[in-house]
Amino acid sequence: MPDAVRIARDNGVVGAGGAGFPTHVKLRAEADTLVVNAAECEPLLYKDQEILENFLDPFVEGAQLAAQAVGASRVLVGVKEKHVRLIERMRDELPDGMEVRPLRDTYPSGDEFILVYDLTGRAVPRAGIPPDVGVVCCNVETLLNLGLEKPVTEKFVTVSGAVPETITFRAPVGASYRDVLRAAGAPLDGMGFVVGGPMMGSVETDLERPVTKTCAGILVLPEDHSLLARKARSTQSVHKIAYSCDQCMRCSDLCPRDLLGHDVKPHKAMISLTLSPDAAQAWQQSALYCCECALCTLYACPEDLDPFRVMVESKRALRERGVRPLKADAEPAPMYSYRRTPTALLVRRLGLEPYLSPHRYAEVAVAPRRLTLPLSQHLGAPAAAVVEKGQRVRAGQLVGEIPEGALGSRIFTPLDGTVARVGRDAVVVEVA
Ligand code: SF4
Ligand code: SF4
Repeated sequence: MPDAVRIARDNGVVGAGGAGFPTHVKLRAEADTLVVNAAECEPLLYKDQEILENFLDPFVEGAQLAAQAVGASRVLVGVKEKHVRLIERMRDELPDGMEVRPLRDTYPSGDEFILVYDLTGRAVPRAGIPPDVGVVCCNVETLLNLGLEKPVTEKFVTVSGAVPETITFRAPVGASYRDVLRAAGAPLDGMGFVVGGPMMGSVETDLERPVTKTCAGILVLPEDHSLLARKARSTQSVHKIAYSCDQCMRCSDLCPRDLLGHDVKPHKAMISLTLSPDAAQAWQQSALYCCECALCTLYACPEDLDPFRVMVESKRALRERGVRPLKADAEPAPMYSYRRTPTALLVRRLGLEPYLSPHRYAEVAVAPRRLTLPLSQHLGAPAAAVVEKGQRVRAGQLVGEIPEGALGSRIFTPLDGTVARVGRDAVVVEVA
């Protein structure tokens, strides 16, 4: 077993960019190129940039371990071109075989397929994965965790929006959102919260829920901000307004996966709502290839409709009927470069311009009294608890193991404490 695979498995490393795919499985692939995702295309998140600024050496160690494991002869790090000083520094300091490549400031430049095409010119097939074109793609925080060679017990999070200061810091996995917001000095009264980025994140009303290994940040907004209302629409309301779709096709024209040649047509899913079930199924097919970036709803649609939600529903309905994605070669559209969505325009459309402010990395003391450690913070099977109620645990101790033969990841406690509850969903630790 290559070192990187063992280190990733032993320490519970998963994709930190959002999906939570177990890294020890991803690193079993073969590829000639390792692509590092530091694009951070979601507005108002800064953790990837801060990791490269403040933890470059352990990140490089992790990237080298990963490249060795998959057999890659080169490592390409995608960083937005606007980070001029960071790119210059990385050009000076990265070792041979590692190269920083500037990316345009567009959304969603961090989509794995878009990133692979932008950095290598190789188009991942529809319903394919990057190793199909000789690439393994990892998030910068994932590789940092690999390079640190210790149990993953902390998560880099950015707290931004209507806050006194935008900061990125490390929070213990299992701490509540309330703990994190308090530590950041964020206001709570009269506010709404989006966990993750403004595009792909979700509105959260339960601040007792825990930070996981895939949480990228919390966006704080006044509770009457239009983004909160748009993201919290009921399914009934999404369907009701869908009938006013005039089939202008702007959602499909700007869809990044359609531009990549994956034949994703949200305007067809919209009209499917008016068709009989059989006809609807035919019109919804392309939803299987949607990456759920939400650009069609939050930027493209001039009528303020919700093609993204219709695509997500269509995808679920198709899967329930047993319809599977069909793999096919992709040919990016001639308009690929010209129809990219500039982040600055997106920020304006989202009403987030007032919250673009200086940001920094900080060592912040998050002091939870209780940790909720979900046993499923990753793709695959939930971890199996290996502790009992009343047991004393030490920081870094294993509390959840990968079930025999399953795809999964290990879970550790970040702090000393006593196990207060062992459930099917989570292990709860009262901090000592
Ligand atoms: S952009 Fe809006 S109005 Fe135009 S086709 Fe798409 S959903 Fe319909
Ligand atoms: S969410 Fe909309 S824009 Fe994004 S991939 Fe899906 S259909 Fe395309």
